[in-house]
Order: sequence, then structure tokens, then C-alpha cells
Amino acid sequence: MPDRVTKIAIVVGIPGVGKTTVLKNLIEKAGKEGIKIKVVNFGDYMFKEASEKGLIKHRDELRKLPLHVQIRLQENAAKKIREDAERGKHDVFIVDTHSLVHTVTGFWPGLPLHVITNIRPHVVFVIEALPEEVFKRRRKDLGIRFREEEKSIEEIKEFMTMARNAALSSAVLTGSAVKIVLNREGKVKEAVDEILKCLKNI
Ligand code: ATP
Ligand code: AMP
Ligand code: MG
Repeated sequence: MPDRVTKIAIVVGIPGVGKTTVLKNLIEKAGKEGIKIKVVNFGDYMFKEASEKGLIKHRDELRKLPLHVQIRLQENAAKKIREDAERGKHDVFIVDTHSLVHTVTGFWPGLPLHVITNIRPHVVFVIEALPEEVFKRRRKDLGIRFREEEKSIEEIKEFMTMARNAALSSAVLTGSAVKIVLNREGKVKEAVDEILKCLKNI
């Protein structure tokens, strides 16, 4: 476990479940309580390198790149995130990412040994919602985000189960806690409160 003053967390959940939205609200709520939270998005690091190299134009194309390219981008992102986590002076450092990525090659872990040991989180939050809600949220974002890998509510449900299991498997590698957080429709605040309470207890 990390012996640093900064509390480290990873937030995962399937595409469209609401990770980025919950985290935006968490920063605001924590800020009002005088808690400084830094959130970084793992995909931003990968997309920056991929777009600078002219490989892709949109973040949702990352999953379609050849696996060996994704692996290299993933490794580089993990190293950079570790550097940034050590440099900053925040109370809490959070990584917005994925425990399982639905790639062209098949399901691929977002937090394999070399990634999770670079970040060394105290806790992994798994954001979940009803499969029907995720389906609706994805439909709302059509044209902005391209989350078409799971075609039906049944496939979303199955992917959510696999992603939860992948998060648990990754947490075992670093002895991190795993907290399942429900992001119910119109209830982002409840998810935020649950995460904040948990962070205060690290
Ligand atoms: P990705 O992994 O693809 O980045 P994400 O998990 O970060 O996805 P968001 O972009 O935060 O997902 O949210 C997806 C959509 O769902 C957005 O349109 C957002 O406004 C909406 N949303 C998020 N949480 C809720 C909620 N509790 N109730 C209703 N809508 C929500
Ligand atoms: P996001 O905006 O969080 O969906 O991130 C954009 C994309 O970045 C994802 O669809 C993945 O292709 C990629 N990505 C994010 N986190 C990881 C990770 N830990 N491992 C591999 N790819 C990731
Ligand atoms: Mg997001």
C-alpha cells in the first residue's frame, strides 16, 4: 500500500456509466469542504500521444488501434500519471479510467500489473448503473462519443459484470480496496457523497 500523504484512487466503470460526470461533481463538492482533489483521465494521456503521432483523431478510436500500439500507449500513460501523482500537492489524486477495454482484439485489461503498480491506489471505485440507464446515457451522447461495442442492454449487463470482476482482480495485485458505487439516474450527488465518505476513511 502507498505510504504517501496524498490519497490515491482509481475510478473505473464501463463507457457511459458516468465516471467523468461523477468526478466533476466530486471536485466541486470536495472543494467546498476544503479538500483538494486532482483528477486525471488515463484516456487523455493515451489520446495525446496517439493524436500527436497522427494515429487517430478521436479518443474512441483508441480501442480500434492494433493491440501492440494500445499496449505501448497504455504503458507510457501509466508512467506519466505516476510522475504527475508524485509531483502534485493534492489531498486526493484520482485516475479516471477503465478496468476492462473492449478492443478489436477482444477484452483487454485496463489495469494490468504494470499499470496498477505504477499508480498504487488505496482504493478502486467501480461506478455502476442499471444497464438500461447506461444504454440511455450512451444514446444521449451519440455523435459526441462512440461507445458502440455493446449492441444491446444484455451485452452492457454482461460487460459490466466482467468489468467489475476485472477491477477486483487488479486490486488484488496491489492490495487495494474496491468500492462499488451506484450512479443512479439523476442521483449523481449520491454517488459523490459515497465516494467522498470513503475517501475520508482511508
Ligand atoms: P466514458 O468511459 O466513455 O468516458 P463516462 O463513464 O465518463 O464514459 P460520462 O461521460 O460521465 O460517462 O457520462 C455519460 C452520459 O451520462 C453523459 O451524458 C452524462 O451527462 C450522463 N450521466 C452521467 N451520470 C448520470 C446520472 N446519474 N443520471 C443521468 N445522466 C447521467
Ligand atoms: P475515456 O474517455 O475514459 O473513455 O477514455 C478514452 C479511451 O482511452 C478508452 O476508450 C480506452 O480506449 C482508453 N483507455 C482509458 N483508460 C485505459 C486503460 N487503463 N488501459 C487502456 N486503455 C485505456
Ligand atoms: Mg469519461
